[in-house]
Formats: sequence, structure tokens, C-alpha cells
Amino acid sequence: MSARKKMQVPLLDLKAQYAGIREEVRVAIDEVCDAQYFVMGPKVTELEASIAEYSQCSDGIGVSSGTDALLVALMALEVGHGDAVITTPYTFFATGGTISRLGARPLFCDIDRDTYNVSSDAIRTLLENECDTVDGKLVHRPSGAVVKVLMPVHLYGQTADMDALAAIGEEYGLPIVEDAAQSIGSEYADGQRAGSRGTIGCFSFFPSKNLGAFGDGGMCTTNHSELADKLRILRLHGGKPKYYHAVVGGNFRLDALQAAVLSVKLRSLDAWTEGRQSNAAFYDQAFADAGLSERVSTPVTRTGKRHIYNQYVIRVAERDALRTHLGEAGIGTEIYYPVPLHLQQCFADLGYGEGDCPESESAANETVAIPVYPELTRDQQQYVVDTIADFYS
Ligand SMILES: *Cc1c(COP(=O)(O)O)cnc(C)c1O
Repeated sequence: MSARKKMQVPLLDLKAQYAGIREEVRVAIDEVCDAQYFVMGPKVTELEASIAEYSQCSDGIGVSSGTDALLVALMALEVGHGDAVITTPYTFFATGGTISRLGARPLFCDIDRDTYNVSSDAIRTLLENECDTVDGKLVHRPSGAVVKVLMPVHLYGQTADMDALAAIGEEYGLPIVEDAAQSIGSEYADGQRAGSRGTIGCFSFFPSKNLGAFGDGGMCTTNHSELADKLRILRLHGGKPKYYHAVVGGNFRLDALQAAVLSVKLRSLDAWTEGRQSNAAFYDQAFADAGLSERVSTPVTRTGKRHIYNQYVIRVAERDALRTHLGEAGIGTEIYYPVPLHLQQCFADLGYGEGDCPESESAANETVAIPVYPELTRDQQQYVVDTIADFYS
């Protein structure tokens, strides 16, 4: 290793982001403190309108987290015991966890090797080979569960193949819940935004997402007003009017402090996204310039898409050793995700085993996320690339 000066490069540096918006954020927080209106209310309504517009939807429904956005979306589509939801195993746990919490069965379809998003071919194969229409219902033969929903995830900031998924949804009569937790503002190839083409879009404002709150928060988006009404009712325990319950919902409310912070941050989101995109382009070029193209697979963006790079994930051999090497050099990394959902202990009773989703399994073994946050400097990025080059030299 050369005598390069050691730098600290965290995976994400929210302090750098906060430094640029500190005053605006504090004014917005003060407004909430002065109003003493903490849960739901005008700040939440304002954020809902802006996120709906940003995501090209008629309605935004603020909720308590990205997880609860998924949960309430599935509840609105009446997913429950005896049902099944088709999804990807290569995702954050919440995608599969919410299906399971409603008593439904996740049906895991493998991913495309290059984008890490669910493979529409794998979904078609499942539908053609393992599902039958019985009495107007789509039944998963091996389990007897009724397939109710398609739930793709737009992983790392790039949308799944919505053209193909929408065609499948249409053909089989399946609504689509988009897990867009990592993809606010990302676009399908036709310029439409994540969350706008599916039946319901689900966003997370967890602090590490591109639009992050000062705590937990989430949003459902939709272009179906009757579903928007249903989501709003379910969010408040299912009461409409208040204290009269035709359905059982939950406490999925968003609070005003989070909404106030998010409304301020939303103004900067496109600039931050451009920063991430520019950093990603720099890495792409720098890995090639360093002669690492054979060793390091950089992210693949499908033609015409707007990738918002919630993560910049590289694929390498000897991933764990490289990760240790980067850690020793002061560089933050993370593995998203080390265990695909079909191999999680809690889903053992679903009967999946190793080899059932080979692309997800190899991605889990070979990928690592490196820092791509907007405030990263070129020096820091070059240091990351040089440190990786050292490892392979
Ligand atoms: C973050 C995330 C969620 C959950 O969001 P929370 O706000 O943390 O509950 C769901 N799905 C994916 C893909 C995520 O990345």
C-alpha cells in the first residue's frame, strides 16, 4: 500500500447536509413548537400535497414510517390470511415482513442480475407454472394461497421494470404496491415517477433515505381517490367518522415536526439527487480509469431511467476482505442485504431453500455499498477508488 494519507469517509454524513439547511429547519421546527399542533394537521397536509405533486400522484397520505406505508397499503387492498403477495427476496426486511404480519404469504421471485430489481420473467414463470385461476381467483397451487398483489421494490434508487410489471398486473388483475422507500423522484423510462404507476406507492423518510426526516416517517401515494380515502381511514384506526369503526386500522399517523422538516428538505431534494448522480458518474469513470472494470462491477442504469442513487452498490469478488480493507482505511460501507428474505429464519416455514433465488443469493454475497452522499468531495471519492485499487493490486 502506498503512503497515502488516511481520510475518513463515512457511508453517510447527515451533519454535512444539515449544515446547509440548519436555519430553515429551525424556523420550521419553531413554527410547530409555537402552534403546539403535533400529530397530523396543516404541516402534514402541506407535505402530503407536495409529495403527491413531486411523485405525480393525485393523493399523498402521510404515515408513520415506510414500513407502515407498506402495511397500510396492503391493508387497503384487503390482503389478509390465506392470501399471497409476489415480491423480491432481495430487499429490506419490511417488504416481506409486512406481508407476513397480515397473515399473508410472500411469494419470492428472483432478481435481475444487473439491476438487483425483481425479474418480471421470474414473476411470469411463477404465475404460469404455479398458479391457476379457480372461481375467478388466482391461486398459488403449492400453498393454496390467493395471489392478491404484486409488490416490486425500486432498489437503491432505480425503479423496477414497471412496463413489464404493469403488463403482468393488467393480465392477471393484480394491483401493484410499489416499495419506493429508496426511490423518491426516480423515474421509469417513460419519465413517470416512482409511486405513480402502481396502484399505491410507498415511501420512507427514515433518516438514511434521500429525503430523510429527523425520526421515522413515510407516505403512501396513489392516483386512485377511493383508495386514498381508504388509506386515510385505516391510518386513523379505521374510524370514520371518528370513534365509529367499520374496519380495523391502526395508528399510522405522521407527526407535524417530521412533516415540517421534510417540507424544508424537499426543496433541496433535486439538488441533492444531482449531487448523488454526479458522484455516481465520477465513480463509474474513476473505476474505469483505475483499470478496475474487470474487478468492480459498477451499478447498471437501464436506458432512460432517472436513478437517484440512494446507494451506490458495487459487485466484487472477495467482498468481505475488501470491506475489511476499506474499514481499516476509514471508509464506511454496508452490505444491503447479507441474507435474502427467502433464507431468513423467520420464513423457514415457507419452505424456501438455498438455490431457490440464485441471483439474490449471489448478490447477497458479492455486493457492497460505498459512500455516495451528495456532500462527498472528489478527494474522498478518489481515496475510495484508490483504496479499492490498492486492494486488488
Ligand atoms: C427503508 C425501507 C423500508 C422501510 O422504511 P422505514 O421507514 O424504515 O420503515 C421498506 N422497504 C425498503 C426497500 C426500504 O429501504
